[in-house]
Amino acid sequence: MSAATAGRGEDTADVIVVGAGPGGSATAAYLAQHGLDVLLLEKATFPRDKICGDGLTPRAVKELVNLGVDTTGWARNKGLRIEGGGHTLTLDWPRTASFPDYGLVRRRAELDETLARHAVSRGARLLEGMNVTGPLRDDRTGRVAGVQVKIVGADGRATGERRTFLAPVVVASDGVSSRLATALGRQKREDRPMGVAVRTYYTSPARTRDDYIASWLELWVPEDPQADPTRADTKKILLPGYAWLFPTGDGSVNVGLGMIDTSPAFGSVDYKDVLRRWAATLPPGWTISPETMTAPVRGAALPMCFNREPLYADGLLLVGDAGGMVNPFNGEGIDYALQAGRVAAECIAQALARDDAAGREAALADYERAMKASLGGYFTLGRQFAGLIGHPEVMRLAVRYGLPRKTLMRLLLKIMANLGQTRGGRLDDRVIAALTRVTPSA
Ligand SMILES: Cc1cc2nc3c(=O)[nH]c(=O)nc-3n(C[C@H](O)[C@H](O)[C@H](O)COP(=O)(O)OP(=O)(O)OC[C@H]3O[C@@H](n4cnc5c(N)ncnc54)[C@H](O)[C@@H]3O)c2cc1C
Repeated sequence: MSAATAGRGEDTADVIVVGAGPGGSATAAYLAQHGLDVLLLEKATFPRDKICGDGLTPRAVKELVNLGVDTTGWARNKGLRIEGGGHTLTLDWPRTASFPDYGLVRRRAELDETLARHAVSRGARLLEGMNVTGPLRDDRTGRVAGVQVKIVGADGRATGERRTFLAPVVVASDGVSSRLATALGRQKREDRPMGVAVRTYYTSPARTRDDYIASWLELWVPEDPQADPTRADTKKILLPGYAWLFPTGDGSVNVGLGMIDTSPAFGSVDYKDVLRRWAATLPPGWTISPETMTAPVRGAALPMCFNREPLYADGLLLVGDAGGMVNPFNGEGIDYALQAGRVAAECIAQALARDDAAGREAALADYERAMKASLGGYFTLGRQFAGLIGHPEVMRLAVRYGLPRKTLMRLLLKIMANLGQTRGGRLDDRVIAALTRVTPSA
């Protein structure tokens, strides 16, 4: 417990973090490491699931290393296999000074509990079954001064009990809907791209230990759902979206598909049906079938390009999906949530070490500047990319002419997974760095 909170009861803290996903747990772990008293409030009870592809690129691995999380025994991969336009291209993760050259796949039911327990091991106080229903505000200053909570049982039902928690700084890391940010009037921006994705698991001994994660840029399915997809004379149609198959290493694969709202088909397709129809076209040896499906097909939204702002105001910081930090190039959000947690914790620790209100406020406001400096230009480029790939004909041309060119695709992988070497590096690293630097964060 810090000096500032010595003698306080259990319902007060230096910082309250709402939501123990990757963003919240990382924030809480770093804050505790900085010596602060942190309350991490989570609605669910662990282990809990989160709809996700479970993919951790080298960028996410780097953040896990920063955090000090032991990933021994997790399913590792060497790169990405891309399919489209009749081509298959296998690309290794780039070797750079800035990032490891391997990725991981870890089921979210396991990853998120590991991260939450890690935060506890660093000193954070995790309270599960705490559904944060809204902020408490200081009437005098208008600042957020705490949160109101409805207590939830392990069965997910409200017990009827309520509590309040107080802290001078609150972090909203409560996911894409961010009830807390919304309650304070921080609505999502309509001028930012939004994705939707669905996923399920299949038992697939043939693919569960693949060295590469796989993605399909085109989804061809038989026009007649009863027809045999493996026969050359079966007439096929192109469905909108892109798909993935990520090997979990535990006998299963995570299979899903996503689409971005710049696509004309967005919102009008039955994504779950598209996934089932497309999955049926995979080779029989992979055992991807309704009989081997081990979880219902479920979907969720992917908020991109800082779609909720400001990232800091009035004592409340937004971290991860709550601040719309998913990468529009590839739909990844875990690494950006982990990064945001690291940066937020540093700014909060600097703020709480200051005596004057103006100094504290300046340090907290620095969080938004730091996140925009790191990702603003990249996200602006991503918005342009999202606009382009929304046109099916652009996508078709890109797949047909881009995919066969390995050097070009290597560069694209570096851009899309945001794996350019941050300092120095090869010519392509320096071009990517310059491009994201000169592109304004808007
Ligand atoms: C289908 C799909 C596939 C994806 N695949 C990938 C992938 O392969 N790799 C990748 O990097 N990203 C992927 N993403 C994105 C990724 O899931 C998110 O970006 C990431 O989970 C964001 O982390 P977070 O901590 O901000 O939020 P979350 O993981 O959503 O965590 C929010 C937490 O807050 C809790 N919470 C919510 N409301 C309250 C409340 N009122 N009170 C208390 N607690 C609350 C929730 O229970 C949850 O624990 C995918 C997303 C989808 C939908």
